[in-house]
Amino acid sequence: MIRIGQGYDVHRLVSERELWLCGVKLDHELGLLGHSDADVAIHALCDAILGALALGDIGKHFPDSDPRYKGIDSKILLSNVCSLMREKGYDLGNADITICAERPKLRPHIDTMRQTLAEVINTPVDNISVKATTTERLGFTGREEGISAMAVVLLSDISR
Ligand code: MG
Repeated sequence: MIRIGQGYDVHRLVSERELWLCGVKLDHELGLLGHSDADVAIHALCDAILGALALGDIGKHFPDSDPRYKGIDSKILLSNVCSLMREKGYDLGNADITICAERPKLRPHIDTMRQTLAEVINTPVDNISVKATTTERLGFTGREEGISAMAVVLLSDISR
């Protein structure tokens, strides 16, 4: 009894915003714009988990019209999505996240990102993969207008 889910998200890069990816604050002159902290990687992961459960998407559960979510740490959203997952009788098997960003270099932060997500989800770090790529300066990510992220998850039934 397993279920698969995928998620995708994009946020615009602007000045005078902090850059948060996978729950980790990165030192960069640009940050992602959004109602929450705009952590595009966590948003893709949340959508993958919700997708696996056929529970809609992150915008349905945490509408950006709701002042409660203004500036919110996306780790809280992920934690809420994981509670929902366990209420439904599922646990995370594994997650694989790909972040598309021209800059900054993400490789030095990958293990911290994996550890951070694993702690929020309450799962062994081996279950969490974070990968980074560029688009060879092509498209909106290549022009550094934004960052995109994709996530795939496998959930396993723990209800029996
Ligand atoms: Mg988003």
